[in-house]
Amino acid sequence: MEQVFAPWRIDWVERDDEGDIEGCVFCELPAREDDRENLVVARSDHAFVMFNNYPYNPGHAMVIPREHTGDYRDLSEEVLLDHARLKQRTFDALETALSPTGFNAGLNLGDGAGGSIDDHLHTHVVPRWEGDTNFMPVVSDTKVIVEAVDETYDRVREAFAEQEGAAVPDDERAIRFQF
Ligand SMILES: [Zn+2]
Repeated sequence: MEQVFAPWRIDWVERDDEGDIEGCVFCELPAREDDRENLVVARSDHAFVMFNNYPYNPGHAMVIPREHTGDYRDLSEEVLLDHARLKQRTFDALETALSPTGFNAGLNLGDGAGGSIDDHLHTHVVPRWEGDTNFMPVVSDTKVIVEAVDETYDRVREAFAEQEGAAVPDDERAIRFQF
């Protein structure tokens, strides 16, 4: 039987260093200083972009409002627009850095949707390549995965940095936008 890759089923994968986080990872990690360590690659006034460390797909990004809510209808117009603009920038950066031939993008909302974190909204943006279900199982070695995530971070951060209006801080910090 052909194996179907269903990127909308991929959710947040817990990291080894999450033991010291009390409460919500999507509130905690962006509040910390070390963006590179936490794979936070870009920030706007009300949202941020973070990579998922799902081993089979290092280009898998999440665009996340800073506001802690699991209900999309709670977001104000200002936050919605800011989050949407950052999402547009994310498509651009991933396209420049990784040359995908498509994207899957979306939210898992509510228990029935199968997400692991349902109290803080996060939009998945998954770059796709024709035939990517075939090469993904090749990347199963942990060392290779870690290197791939780091390399992806650098390439995508650079692509964000080249965008109009980008503020570029030191290497440890995310690229900053004000829309
Ligand atoms: Zn939260």
